Amino acid sequence: MIRSDLWTREQLLLVLNLYHKIPFGQFDHRNPKVIRLAEAIGRTPGAVSRKLGNFASLDPYHQNRGVKGLSNAGKATEDIWKEFYDNWDQLVPESEALFEALTDTTKEDIKLGQGENAQILDQELERLTEIERSVKVRMGQRFFRQTVMASYHWHCCVCGIPIPELLIASHIIPWKDREDLRLNPHNGLCLCALHDKAFDRGFMTINSDYMVLISPVIYHHLPQEALNSGLIAYQNCKILLPDRFLPDKNFLEVHQHQYFLH
Ligand SMILES: [Zn+2]
Repeated sequence: MIRSDLWTREQLLLVLNLYHKIPFGQFDHRNPKVIRLAEAIGRTPGAVSRKLGNFASLDPYHQNRGVKGLSNAGKATEDIWKEFYDNWDQLVPESEALFEALTDTTKEDIKLGQGENAQILDQELERLTEIERSVKVRMGQRFFRQTVMASYHWHCCVCGIPIPELLIASHIIPWKDREDLRLNPHNGLCLCALHDKAFDRGFMTINSDYMVLISPVIYHHLPQEALNSGLIAYQNCKILLPDRFLPDKNFLEVHQHQYFLH
């Protein structure tokens, strides 16, 4: 049965959280993640799927590509989208905490909605506001990782390695230098362990045309087979671009000029 009642802020926040963690094109009502969230918030998978489509229609990245999505997203949907991006640092941990509370199997009885369930939610939210900063940081990091990984469909953007255990959601500008960019997926790259380390230590950078540049320092160690196949082979190759949250060109320029070993 399709419910016609209005979406609550928390429900919208949860769908928006999920929006970032699944690649565009997998918003289907048969996606197990969509089904699990739908059950948790008392909506149909079809309704959650349509709401994901609404968010896609608001996403500037898809708008730029001419993807129409579903029109009439609704004011509440537009408002939460704007709030999310205006308060990224606050809304990411908040949505992540809600998501964790709902999808944690030990708290399956907590449902969003009306009546006494809403009261349980209030208590849960109150508890969540007391979450220590370290927990928020962890949740933020997890969100950042999942969002970046999903955008790149779990592939290293340099070499294409597709094994999640070998992949890292790297920061273009290190978060120790720009804490405000810690959770910004436009400051993220999906890299394998070798390319993450090489990028982090300045042996490799990516220019604003999304081409890989290998540091001259590496050439001092040649000839060496592993360096050839692991790094030199990608010189001037274009990276695999994500399906949203393109790496910010300004951040890439900062990396190239401040961190790359010339
Ligand atoms: Zn790689």
